[in-house]
Amino acid sequence: MEDCIFCKIVAGEIPCHKVYEDELVLAFLDISQVTPGHTLVIPKQHVTDIFAYEDDLAGQVFARIPKIARAMEQAFPDMKGLNIVNNNRPLAYQSVFHSHFHLIPRYHKEDGFGLTFTNHQADYDAESLGQIASKLSNQLS
Ligand code: 5GP
Ligand code: ZN
Repeated sequence: MEDCIFCKIVAGEIPCHKVYEDELVLAFLDISQVTPGHTLVIPKQHVTDIFAYEDDLAGQVFARIPKIARAMEQAFPDMKGLNIVNNNRPLAYQSVFHSHFHLIPRYHKEDGFGLTFTNHQADYDAESLGQIASKLSNQLS
């Protein structure tokens, strides 16, 4: 896709530090290196975000991630964990609109990556959770 920075990386028009490539997927270092080894995994074909995937391609892209995660573990002996992050649409912090999965190796608590999940469990009861689940499951049946 024209004017897509990651399509340009796939096409070799913009350089990257490639870590893995096959016919469907490219993995390369994120320029920001939130932690050392921070890698992006992308489909080679332009897919805007998670909402736009064909099921098969989604499966094929995700199927590569455990292999890359295990390679990171081998390559970075100090790595103690891994966050996999996928931002979709601007509100959710997507800034490049070619789908990508961030693989962010974790070394210690203050290694540069932060993510907070606020617990609102006390605000819900079984009835309200049931209503939310029904809204969603009705769309999936
Ligand atoms: P998002 O904010 O969309 O989840 O993530 C986009 C990521 O792409 C950012 O972490 C940013 O550092 C990375 N990025 C943006 N432009 C380039 C580039 O030209 N090369 C590489 N390797 N990464 C990029
Ligand atoms: Zn693209």
